[in-house]
Amino acid sequence: MRIFFYKISHDIIKKEKGVKMKKIAIIGGGASGLITAIIAKTKENEVVILEKNSQLGKKLLLTGNGKCNFWNEDQNLSHYHSLENVPLEHWLTEERQKEVLSFFQNLGIIWKTKNGWYYPFSNQAISIRNALEEKVRQVGVQIDNDFLVEDIKIEKNLFVINTKKESMTFDVVVLATGSKAYPKTGSTGDGYRLASTLGHSIIEPLPSLVPLVLDKKIDASGVRTDVKVSIYEDGKFLREEEGELQITDYGLSGICIFLLSRYASIGLANQKKMTLEINFIPFLQEEAHTWMTNISKNKKISSVLDGFLNYKLGNALLKSCHIIPEKTWENLEKEKQENLLEHLTHFKANIISALGYENGQICLGGIPLKEVTESFESKLIPNLYFTGELLDLDGDCGGYNLGIAWISGMTVGKEIARRK
Ligand SMILES: Cc1cc2nc3c(=O)[nH]c(=O)nc-3n(C[C@H](O)[C@H](O)[C@H](O)COP(=O)(O)OP(=O)(O)OC[C@H]3O[C@@H](n4cnc5c(N)ncnc54)[C@H](O)[C@@H]3O)c2cc1C
Repeated sequence: MRIFFYKISHDIIKKEKGVKMKKIAIIGGGASGLITAIIAKTKENEVVILEKNSQLGKKLLLTGNGKCNFWNEDQNLSHYHSLENVPLEHWLTEERQKEVLSFFQNLGIIWKTKNGWYYPFSNQAISIRNALEEKVRQVGVQIDNDFLVEDIKIEKNLFVINTKKESMTFDVVVLATGSKAYPKTGSTGDGYRLASTLGHSIIEPLPSLVPLVLDKKIDASGVRTDVKVSIYEDGKFLREEEGELQITDYGLSGICIFLLSRYASIGLANQKKMTLEINFIPFLQEEAHTWMTNISKNKKISSVLDGFLNYKLGNALLKSCHIIPEKTWENLEKEKQENLLEHLTHFKANIISALGYENGQICLGGIPLKEVTESFESKLIPNLYFTGELLDLDGDCGGYNLGIAWISGMTVGKEIARRK
């Protein structure tokens, strides 16, 4: 029924104004689709968001643990990546980055920062979602919820979207369908299929910002501890992160693990041997053996560990070194002392897998950047655009993925609004 109204209202507007209105379909009402719609809407453009969920921005509501880390002060390009290692200066220019904050300021969002990470002052993702939705409605964008786009065809230079009831035609289509990470939010990978049927190639999506499963279990599920953790590919050092590690019953989680998961996913997909090395005492400046001897003072080794480690983790490490907790450091055989220090400072385990798309915050891969212009328009099909996570663009944890959604959405919206 709603589709019917949409067609009627479009025709009436056209007749009344006697101008050629351009019809723009934005497929996906997530972060990037919403910002695109707001900016693309002009007097000459009739914009409709086709969203399969009954609400807009379902994934946005989950971001930042419900607080929405929507931006980062540090916009160094090293926080952004593409699987094809394309230089990103053209896509994520400083000018485009600057515009994002003024957009949110104009939406009336008051924000705060924590170590450079931006959150709405309300601490609620719903503040961002609601502000975007209200603006979408205010500028006159039509919203069609519960609208699953199953296929797009091109006929006489127009995009045809078929529903069970009828065919709708559009001058411009924006694929803002997201990836296939967290499919329960509606991002089920439809965009890859739709783009591929229109002739685009797809770089195989891989889950990222995701927990990792190791071949060694650390028997301390529930423990959170500050560590330094490094990742190696076939023995070659790739990257180190420092931060809070969360030990779970299936493996490891936490921001430092999320940041390394990108490299784990890529390496595992290329059949490489991926190894993690954890330093559980990252504060240590001096030589480990001397330090341990100095602090042990003839205490039980379990009590010594209690002085700087979560007791559950300490016990797990002792168990895995086959050390009786009641023994003192001084009474341990040299070999066991070395083994314990090795576990504390260079705990090594192979990565078996990255937990799948269901648990990944984002996907790597997608539409290759070499198949789009600097305005994210398809080089194969004029008036077809891509935004957000569907593109082969990904960011570190810290507001960078929403950053990609805002920057690409603003760029596409501006380009559509600019074109007559
Ligand atoms: C738990 C979690 C926490 C996160 N936290 C953060 C964070 O704090 N900071 C950060 O920067 N990033 C975060 N992210 C990542 C961020 O949410 C995404 O990168 C961003 O939402 C991508 O925006 P998008 O517009 O490309 O896709 P989405 O936001 O996924 O929107 C795509 C929309 O398209 C719709 N759709 C898909 N297919 C169709 C179809 N065929 N027809 C109609 N509609 C369709 C979907 O229903 C969905 O609403 C988080 C992700 C998750 C899962």
